[in-house]
Amino acid sequence: MKKITVFCGSSDGVNPLFGDIAYQLGAQLAQEDIALIYGGAKIGLMGKVANGAIEAGGKVTGVLPYFLGSKEIAHDQLTEIIMVNTMHDRKMIMHERCEGFIALPGGFGTFEELFEVLTWAQLGLHQKPIGLLNVNGFYNPLIQMVETMVNHGYLSELHQSMLLKSATITDLLAQMKNYNAPEVPKWINKDLI
Ligand code: AMP
Repeated sequence: MKKITVFCGSSDGVNPLFGDIAYQLGAQLAQEDIALIYGGAKIGLMGKVANGAIEAGGKVTGVLPYFLGSKEIAHDQLTEIIMVNTMHDRKMIMHERCEGFIALPGGFGTFEELFEVLTWAQLGLHQKPIGLLNVNGFYNPLIQMVETMVNHGYLSELHQSMLLKSATITDLLAQMKNYNAPEVPKWINKDLI
């Protein structure tokens, strides 16, 4: 795996540990010669992951819509910045350019991006690994919600297994490198649930 897209908060959050982990993730990607693709901002966890990669000598591509250029404040030290017209263009480029996805803690934007790539995986539109970095148990309620979807018959265990998760960067990257996407039927099959 040579290119990973990271989704994460445009805010720092209240716990400084989250920023530290974002920075460490960027640094570890750089050390493993994995290029980082992300939303292109210099604020929040987005800025931290980019700084970690840049300061460790990594390659970083930011993809930023013009209209967010001032709001999110474009990072000015990236290897490459791609300015796009819409959020959809941004997500498409972040999707096309990577070989896997990692979600760090974040808000609605992070969740939307995470669930979009999960739904695309579920439909068999890509076979890329998707990993949740479960910093300090931040994602425990989401993992529980996914379990609830399975228990209520809205999600198959096969599709549940497409969401990789770990509390540590090293373990999550190892899972992603070993990931083989399950064969999914083209249409949702009741027998799977
Ligand atoms: P957040 O997790 O809400 O701080 O947002 C993280 C990133 O997701 C930021 O780059 C936002 O611009 C982006 N984002 C926010 N809302 C959306 C959306 N509806 N679709 C795609 N990306 C979004």
